[in-house]
Amino acid sequence: MKNYLLMIFVFLLFFASFNAESMNVAPPTFGYLFCALLLVTGYLAIKRHNLQYIKTMFIVAIAVQFIFTLAVPYWALGQGLALNAAWPYFPEVLWTVGSLALWYYVMSFILLPVAVYLFGRRAWCSFVCGTGVMAETLGDPYRDRGAKSTGIPRGFVVLKWVLLIATVAITIAALAGDPADKLFFTVFLVVFILIIRTGIMNAGNLILMPKFGTRIWCKYFCPQGLLIGLISRIGRFALVRDDSKCVGCGTCSSQCSMSIDISGGPAINRTGDCVGCGVCVEVCPQQALSMTTNIKEIPARDQSIPGNRSV
Ligand code: SF4
Ligand code: SF4
Repeated sequence: MKNYLLMIFVFLLFFASFNAESMNVAPPTFGYLFCALLLVTGYLAIKRHNLQYIKTMFIVAIAVQFIFTLAVPYWALGQGLALNAAWPYFPEVLWTVGSLALWYYVMSFILLPVAVYLFGRRAWCSFVCGTGVMAETLGDPYRDRGAKSTGIPRGFVVLKWVLLIATVAITIAALAGDPADKLFFTVFLVVFILIIRTGIMNAGNLILMPKFGTRIWCKYFCPQGLLIGLISRIGRFALVRDDSKCVGCGTCSSQCSMSIDISGGPAINRTGDCVGCGVCVEVCPQQALSMTTNIKEIPARDQSIPGNRSV
């Protein structure tokens, strides 16, 4: 019960801070709250883990959030939209930001895909995306909750495709249409911002975390995760299991917030679902797991596509 109350409190705090900001009655309250929450939960998460990769990941990820959600946009540029936003998660960045539009186009269509190709989905989902970083820090104690080793159910994969296609349609309509079309933007506000992002992503993600584990949004709903998962599958990143060491205990899978079947899947796992959190590597009692960004060096005969239905 304590955990649920805490998550409801965090959600209400975020919700109130969003509204205060949009009414121009407060400084960037959401940015301050978000960074403060990450600092506290990130510090606790760093203390909880032993693997240096994970500690470094938390420190870099928190620094990235601070720079891109608070320091540069608010303090340096005096504008209110975080710079670590990208299409299609935030379709509005392509049409609402004036002179910063170029940054969001470059981020969405060049920097993000190249980084994911080279370093895997973790480059965005565990280091840059605010939702992902919050899932890793605030959600760290809940990694063992929710479905394990199941992959992502086909119904949710279809749902993510529907959200992605809807986002493409909305983006085309917005870019081709009249920017002053109030009806379009009212529908966008209600459906995308209120129902999908505030309802599912913020409220659902946070409040259900103690029961269903962290990364509920990332696993079941995020169209961005779906898209960059596709790139990650053909990129250079893979999770590698040394079967001469693995005893099939399943400890790794029991901690995977993305429900990947690590111990039962292929030895060279290129699933687009892995966010590279490193926790499976840390908890393996046999030190049988590692991550590589050099998949090309692994002989082709040893490479295989995972059996889980990620895309
Ligand atoms: S899956 Fe989506 S919300 Fe989750 S970290 Fe990736 S981009 Fe962010
Ligand atoms: S497979 Fe390992 S590194 Fe990837 S998301 Fe699951 S626990 Fe994290």
